[in-house]
Amino acid sequence: MEREREKVWKREASLEMEISLRRIKKSLEAGNISLCIKEIMTLAVANRATDIHLEAHRMFMRVDTVMCLILDDIQDGVFISIIRGFYALTKGQQINQRKTNRGSFVHEILAVSKPGKNVLGKLQTYEIACRITVMPTATGIMAAYIRLRDPHHIPPLDKLGLLSEDLEMIQRIVIQRYRSTGVFLVTGPTNSGKSTLLLSILEEIYKKAEGKISVATIEDPVEIKMKNFAQFSINPGAGMTFGDAVRDVLTCDKDLLFVGEIRDPDTAQVVFRASSTGHLTVSTLHAKDTLHTFERLRELGILPSEMSGHLLGIVSQRLLRRLCPRCKESYDATEDIKKLNKMGYPGLEDLQLFRPKEGGCEYCKGRGIRGMVIILEILDTTEMEFRLALSKEGVSMSRLLEFSNEQKMRTLFDAAVKRIKKGEISVEDALATVHR
Ligand SMILES: [Zn+2]
Repeated sequence: MEREREKVWKREASLEMEISLRRIKKSLEAGNISLCIKEIMTLAVANRATDIHLEAHRMFMRVDTVMCLILDDIQDGVFISIIRGFYALTKGQQINQRKTNRGSFVHEILAVSKPGKNVLGKLQTYEIACRITVMPTATGIMAAYIRLRDPHHIPPLDKLGLLSEDLEMIQRIVIQRYRSTGVFLVTGPTNSGKSTLLLSILEEIYKKAEGKISVATIEDPVEIKMKNFAQFSINPGAGMTFGDAVRDVLTCDKDLLFVGEIRDPDTAQVVFRASSTGHLTVSTLHAKDTLHTFERLRELGILPSEMSGHLLGIVSQRLLRRLCPRCKESYDATEDIKKLNKMGYPGLEDLQLFRPKEGGCEYCKGRGIRGMVIILEILDTTEMEFRLALSKEGVSMSRLLEFSNEQKMRTLFDAAVKRIKKGEISVEDALATVHR
């Protein structure tokens, strides 16, 4: 669910940000678009922004899932020049005003590294991999979306901040079974960190196998370079689909496949076929939660018998905003606790709940939140009973629900409540982000 744009970035909270914004405005006044783009990137990187959006004469940056308004009322000509300037970095052809234009570029930035114990921070060059999409809008003015990624950094699985029980389950369902065949899926909305989780899992498997397995990734396009994996970008513009690429890669004798996304019946079928020819395949899918994944797979033409024969497990994932540890504030949570009670979470009365502090602090740059919390719902689909039920054609959603209850599967919201109890996230954010 895309949230309403929020103007929550308190600019006065950070002198550094104020200077950066002034520089952007100054470069615009001087008509220096390339300097302006540099300044925009500097601001984005300094604030750990994941996306820059340019639409309807405004510019936003997404930080910890919050859309922050950076510039408003950008003049027509200047707005178009900024978009053109960004797209020129891809060294692609000119923007075609009638269709969606996609490209990628690497932005280098000079910054001071994190100081350590008795070590000062060093000036270093960082590379940021960026993906840009420029598309026409109904008003005739183009809009641009830029995604920023650290191209060399996938955090190790145990540094993602997962709950220990989630980590154990992932170990059991997929990592320890790396020699077997099957399909492991991560579902969730766009920008919920699905690929990051899967790449961390693959790294962990690679380590466990002491490098004695070959891993191939097929992505649209490759965003994060992985030292030990063979990585392939598909080219949808040239009519190449994930399905085509998987077929090609399957002839190259790989043990483990990462398929960026299952979004059409052909890819779904080829992924399940790869499993029957002795491959472990991991992929992502758009589905509301783990149980709805079965419906989605059925829509994509996968038979229940194929699901029961090949699925290892399904993870559903959401990212929630982590309350700033330095300024989060406790409040009278009687109403919120009543709400949670009604939803089936009793015994919270004595708990101290927290919410973001209005205006935040210097550490969270005035936003009251800092970083993200990953919450997971994990379904082990290898349980015998579960497989038997699934293999019967047309097994109902209510039957699946019964099984998940018998398995005592922890739902996404159960996971969110755990994080609320730990004071990591607010009730408000959990209710807004996680469906019940
Ligand atoms: Zn703070």
